[in-house]
Amino acid sequence: MPKELVRVTPARLQRWEDCPRRYRATYLDRPAPARGGAWAHSTLGAVVHNVLRAYFESPPDQRDPEDLPVLLRRYWKGDGFRDREQAAEYRSRAAKWLDEYARRPEAAGEPVALERWVSAPTGALIVEGRVDRIDDRDGQLVVVDYKTGRHVLTTEDARDSRALALYLMAARRTLRRPGSRVELHHLPTGRVVAWDHDAETLAEHRRHAERIAEELSAAASALDRGADPDEHFPPRPGRGCSVCEFRRSCPEGRAAAPDLEPWDLLAP
Ligand code: SF4
Repeated sequence: MPKELVRVTPARLQRWEDCPRRYRATYLDRPAPARGGAWAHSTLGAVVHNVLRAYFESPPDQRDPEDLPVLLRRYWKGDGFRDREQAAEYRSRAAKWLDEYARRPEAAGEPVALERWVSAPTGALIVEGRVDRIDDRDGQLVVVDYKTGRHVLTTEDARDSRALALYLMAARRTLRRPGSRVELHHLPTGRVVAWDHDAETLAEHRRHAERIAEELSAAASALDRGADPDEHFPPRPGRGCSVCEFRRSCPEGRAAAPDLEPWDLLAP
């Protein structure tokens, strides 16, 4: 019998690599363990993504940066911020980021897709996921991912992002068009970093994704057979434990990284 294709999203693969225990708590444990509260940086990221989606839904000749404050007001949320003053400060920062971004050349085109679900069989996997934006530039697809965090991006971030590479493969298949470029657009700095993949760099990402998918499938099968969850989904303590939504129920994670305030990871 041919082997069944494993269906994965880049987020699932990343979660497994970060920490198998966190993967199990996120996708397999039912009822799901209690999660921590909202993080201000996640709230801000979601707001900015929603505003940009709404903004780019209009055709280029009807888009006006002056409309952005209205969209920001519509989508704004204050979850996770320290207080009203901090929320207000970041709301005005987001307004500035959005205004500056909307006037850049990268914001002038007409996207082919916004928050589009794409999917493709690639080797032993079916890769799928939701892409922030897909542009068509001179007949070539470009996968665009927005970032709003503290990390200042480099070209290596675009080159090494497995999520972007897998999205590109899935977007080419779903939209049946060629493309090689992936881009990260960092709103707080206005920085755009890009990478042009070729067959070999995509194949390397695909092989790595297949290895990870095989590991997590084997662990899930063992769990179904009643194996010890901690043996097959061990904790992988590290810096990420500070923001893990399951740290309250994970002694190893609490010992590995300090508690953070929900607003500590906002871009400075
Ligand atoms: S706190 Fe750390 S070790 Fe524990 S589940 Fe979360 S990421 Fe894994």
